[in-house]
Amino acid sequence: MIAPFTARLPMQLHLSTWPEVETYLARSKAILIPIGSTEQHGPNGLLGTDALCPEIIARRVGDEAGILVGPTFNVGQAQHHMSFPGTITLRPSTMIASMVDWAQSLARHGFERIYWLNGHGGNIATITAAFSEIYHGVSFDRSGANHPPLRCSLRNWWEVPGVTQYLFPDHIKSAELDPSIAPSGRFYDAVDYRRRFPDGRIGSDPSQASIEAGEKIVTMAVKGVIAEFKQFAAS
Ligand SMILES: [Zn+2]
Repeated sequence: MIAPFTARLPMQLHLSTWPEVETYLARSKAILIPIGSTEQHGPNGLLGTDALCPEIIARRVGDEAGILVGPTFNVGQAQHHMSFPGTITLRPSTMIASMVDWAQSLARHGFERIYWLNGHGGNIATITAAFSEIYHGVSFDRSGANHPPLRCSLRNWWEVPGVTQYLFPDHIKSAELDPSIAPSGRFYDAVDYRRRFPDGRIGSDPSQASIEAGEKIVTMAVKGVIAEFKQFAAS
Protein backbone atom coordinates (compact mmCIF):
# COMPACT_ATOMS: atom_id res chain seq x y z
CA MET A 1 0.00 0.00 0.00
CA ILE A 2 1.22 3.48 -0.78
CA ALA A 3 1.61 5.70 2.27
CA PRO A 4 -0.96 8.52 2.30
CA PHE A 5 0.32 11.91 1.29
CA THR A 6 0.70 14.20 4.26
CA ALA A 7 1.17 17.93 3.85
CA ARG A 8 3.45 18.18 6.87
CA LEU A 9 5.75 21.17 6.78
CA PRO A 10 9.47 20.59 7.21
CA MET A 11 10.55 22.30 10.42
CA GLN A 12 14.02 23.23 9.21
CA LEU A 13 14.37 26.49 7.35
CA HIS A 14 16.91 25.17 4.86
CA LEU A 15 14.56 22.30 3.91
CA SER A 16 11.60 24.63 3.47
CA THR A 17 10.39 26.67 0.51
CA TRP A 18 9.46 30.33 0.80
CA PRO A 19 5.71 29.63 0.61
CA GLU A 20 6.14 27.19 3.53
CA VAL A 21 7.90 29.87 5.57
CA GLU A 22 5.11 32.31 4.69
CA THR A 23 2.56 29.76 5.94
CA TYR A 24 4.55 29.29 9.17
CA LEU A 25 4.69 33.07 9.73
CA ALA A 26 0.90 33.23 9.58
CA ARG A 27 0.77 31.13 12.76
CA SER A 28 4.07 31.97 14.52
CA LYS A 29 6.61 34.81 14.51
CA ALA A 30 9.19 32.85 16.49
CA ILE A 31 12.20 30.87 15.27
CA LEU A 32 14.95 28.86 16.93
CA ILE A 33 18.59 29.24 15.81
CA PRO A 34 21.19 26.74 17.04
CA ILE A 35 24.51 28.50 17.61
CA GLY A 36 27.86 26.89 18.42
CA SER A 37 31.49 26.61 17.49
CA THR A 38 33.87 24.57 15.34
CA GLU A 39 36.76 23.85 17.67
CA GLN A 40 38.96 21.15 19.11
CA HIS A 41 37.36 19.04 21.83
CA GLY A 42 40.30 17.06 23.14
CA PRO A 43 41.75 13.92 21.56
CA ASN A 44 38.43 12.06 21.16
CA GLY A 45 35.86 14.85 20.80
CA LEU A 46 34.43 15.89 17.43
CA LEU A 47 35.30 19.39 16.23
CA GLY A 48 31.62 20.06 15.65
CA THR A 49 30.51 19.09 19.17
CA ASP A 50 29.43 22.58 20.28
CA ALA A 51 27.39 23.13 17.11
CA LEU A 52 26.04 19.57 16.87
CA CYS A 53 24.64 19.48 20.43
CA PRO A 54 22.25 22.43 20.01
CA GLU A 55 21.47 21.34 16.43
CA ILE A 56 20.47 17.82 17.51
CA ILE A 57 18.25 19.18 20.27
CA ALA A 58 16.79 21.84 17.95
CA ARG A 59 15.85 19.35 15.26
CA ARG A 60 13.89 17.25 17.72
CA VAL A 61 12.29 20.36 19.18
CA GLY A 62 11.19 21.30 15.65
CA ASP A 63 9.73 17.88 14.88
CA GLU A 64 8.01 17.41 18.23
CA ALA A 65 6.56 20.89 18.64
CA GLY A 66 6.27 22.30 15.09
CA ILE A 67 8.84 25.02 15.81
CA LEU A 68 10.81 26.39 12.84
CA VAL A 69 14.57 25.86 13.20
CA GLY A 70 17.01 28.07 11.30
CA PRO A 71 20.41 27.03 9.94
CA THR A 72 23.07 26.41 12.59
CA PHE A 73 25.41 29.34 13.24
CA ASN A 74 28.29 26.94 13.56
CA VAL A 75 31.46 29.02 13.93
CA GLY A 76 31.96 31.17 17.02
CA GLN A 77 34.53 32.40 19.53
CA ALA A 78 37.36 29.89 19.51
CA GLN A 79 40.61 31.88 19.33
CA HIS A 80 41.99 30.09 22.40
CA HIS A 81 41.63 26.74 20.57
CA MET A 82 43.61 27.89 17.51
CA SER A 83 46.75 25.93 18.46
CA PHE A 84 44.79 22.75 17.64
CA PRO A 85 44.25 21.85 13.95
CA GLY A 86 40.73 22.12 12.56
CA THR A 87 39.50 24.93 14.79
CA ILE A 88 37.84 27.87 13.01
CA THR A 89 37.10 31.15 14.79
CA LEU A 90 35.41 34.50 14.20
CA ARG A 91 36.56 37.78 15.74
CA PRO A 92 33.92 39.10 18.16
CA SER A 93 33.22 42.01 15.77
CA THR A 94 32.65 39.62 12.83
CA MET A 95 30.34 37.40 14.86
CA ILE A 96 28.32 40.35 16.13
CA ALA A 97 27.97 41.73 12.59
CA SER A 98 26.84 38.33 11.25
CA MET A 99 24.32 37.80 14.04
CA VAL A 100 22.87 41.26 13.43
CA ASP A 101 22.48 40.47 9.71
CA TRP A 102 20.82 37.12 10.45
CA ALA A 103 18.41 38.79 12.88
CA GLN A 104 17.60 41.67 10.54
CA SER A 105 17.00 39.30 7.62
CA LEU A 106 14.53 37.32 9.73
CA ALA A 107 12.90 40.47 11.10
CA ARG A 108 12.45 41.77 7.53
CA HIS A 109 10.21 38.74 6.87
CA GLY A 110 8.17 39.27 10.01
CA PHE A 111 9.95 37.22 12.68
CA GLU A 112 9.75 38.93 16.07
CA ARG A 113 11.24 36.34 18.44
CA ILE A 114 14.62 34.68 17.88
CA TYR A 115 15.59 32.00 20.35
CA TRP A 116 19.32 31.24 20.10
CA LEU A 117 20.23 27.80 21.48
CA ASN A 118 23.93 28.04 22.27
CA GLY A 119 26.41 25.20 22.57
CA HIS A 120 29.62 27.01 23.50
CA GLY A 121 30.43 28.87 26.71
CA GLY A 122 32.99 31.07 24.93
CA ASN A 123 30.17 32.54 22.77
CA ILE A 124 28.12 33.98 25.62
CA ALA A 125 29.74 37.42 25.96
CA THR A 126 29.67 37.98 22.19
CA ILE A 127 26.07 36.78 21.80
CA THR A 128 25.03 39.18 24.55
CA ALA A 129 26.91 42.01 22.80
CA ALA A 130 25.20 41.08 19.50
CA PHE A 131 21.78 41.33 21.17
CA SER A 132 22.73 44.81 22.37
CA GLU A 133 23.79 45.75 18.82
CA ILE A 134 20.47 44.42 17.46
CA TYR A 135 18.47 46.48 19.98
CA HIS A 136 20.59 49.56 19.24
CA GLY A 137 19.56 49.23 15.61
CA VAL A 138 15.90 49.24 16.60
CA SER A 139 16.27 52.09 19.13
CA PHE A 140 18.26 54.33 16.79
CA ASP A 141 15.71 53.89 14.01
CA ARG A 142 13.48 56.97 14.11
CA SER A 143 10.39 55.00 13.18
CA GLY A 144 11.02 53.26 16.56
CA ALA A 145 7.71 52.36 18.12
CA ASN A 146 6.06 51.80 14.74
CA HIS A 147 8.17 48.67 14.27
CA PRO A 148 7.00 45.29 15.51
CA PRO A 149 9.18 44.36 18.51
CA LEU A 150 12.22 42.18 17.81
CA ARG A 151 13.35 40.17 20.82
CA CYS A 152 16.22 37.73 21.19
CA SER A 153 16.67 35.07 23.83
CA LEU A 154 19.78 33.09 24.74
CA ARG A 155 19.71 29.59 26.20
CA ASN A 156 23.06 27.80 26.73
CA TRP A 157 23.40 24.18 25.99
CA TRP A 158 26.59 23.05 27.73
CA GLU A 159 29.07 20.57 26.31
CA VAL A 160 27.74 17.08 26.65
CA PRO A 161 29.88 14.67 24.59
CA GLY A 162 27.37 11.82 25.09
CA VAL A 163 24.87 13.75 22.97
CA THR A 164 27.06 13.62 19.84
CA GLN A 165 27.99 9.99 20.56
CA TYR A 166 24.27 9.20 20.64
CA LEU A 167 23.71 10.65 17.19
CA PHE A 168 26.90 9.52 15.47
CA PRO A 169 27.74 6.14 17.04
CA ASP A 170 29.93 5.27 14.04
CA HIS A 171 32.10 8.28 14.77
CA ILE A 172 32.94 7.56 18.42
CA LYS A 173 36.69 8.11 18.77
CA SER A 174 38.78 6.58 21.48
CA ALA A 175 42.01 7.99 22.83
CA GLU A 176 44.31 7.29 25.75
CA LEU A 177 43.43 10.02 28.25
CA ASP A 178 46.25 11.03 30.54
CA PRO A 179 45.39 12.24 33.12
CA SER A 180 41.77 10.99 32.92
CA ILE A 181 40.45 14.25 34.37
CA ALA A 182 42.07 17.25 32.67
CA PRO A 183 43.58 20.19 34.60
CA SER A 184 41.61 23.43 34.99
CA GLY A 185 42.52 27.10 35.24
CA ARG A 186 42.74 30.41 33.39
CA PHE A 187 44.09 30.84 29.88
CA TYR A 188 44.76 33.68 27.44
CA ASP A 189 45.73 33.16 23.80
CA ALA A 190 45.98 30.02 21.68
CA VAL A 191 49.64 29.25 22.45
CA ASP A 192 49.06 29.75 26.18
CA TYR A 193 46.02 27.46 26.06
CA ARG A 194 47.91 24.59 24.43
CA ARG A 195 50.80 24.96 26.87
CA ARG A 196 48.45 24.67 29.87
CA PHE A 197 46.09 22.05 28.42
CA PRO A 198 48.23 19.90 26.12
CA ASP A 199 45.47 17.52 24.95
CA GLY A 200 42.88 20.29 24.64
CA ARG A 201 40.63 19.36 27.57
CA ILE A 202 39.95 21.63 30.56
CA GLY A 203 38.70 19.87 33.69
CA SER A 204 36.69 17.28 31.79
CA ASP A 205 36.59 13.49 31.78
CA PRO A 206 35.02 12.37 28.47
CA SER A 207 35.19 8.71 29.53
CA GLN A 208 31.98 9.38 31.47
CA ALA A 209 30.09 9.97 28.21
CA SER A 210 27.83 7.21 26.88
CA ILE A 211 25.16 6.75 24.20
CA GLU A 212 22.51 6.05 26.87
CA ALA A 213 23.42 9.14 28.87
CA GLY A 214 23.38 11.22 25.69
CA GLU A 215 19.90 9.98 24.74
CA LYS A 216 18.57 10.82 28.20
CA ILE A 217 20.17 14.26 28.13
CA VAL A 218 18.75 15.05 24.67
CA THR A 219 15.25 13.96 25.71
CA MET A 220 15.44 16.14 28.81
CA ALA A 221 16.84 19.09 26.89
CA VAL A 222 14.16 18.85 24.17
CA LYS A 223 11.39 19.00 26.76
CA GLY A 224 12.94 21.99 28.51
CA VAL A 225 13.60 23.92 25.30
CA ILE A 226 10.04 23.38 23.97
CA ALA A 227 8.54 24.76 27.20
CA GLU A 228 10.89 27.74 27.27
CA PHE A 229 10.48 28.52 23.57
CA LYS A 230 6.68 28.51 23.82
CA GLN A 231 6.82 30.95 26.72
CA PHE A 232 9.23 33.22 24.85
CA ALA A 233 7.17 33.08 21.65
CA ALA A 234 4.08 34.16 23.60
CA SER A 235 5.85 36.93 25.50
ZN1 LIG B 1 33.33 24.97 23.45
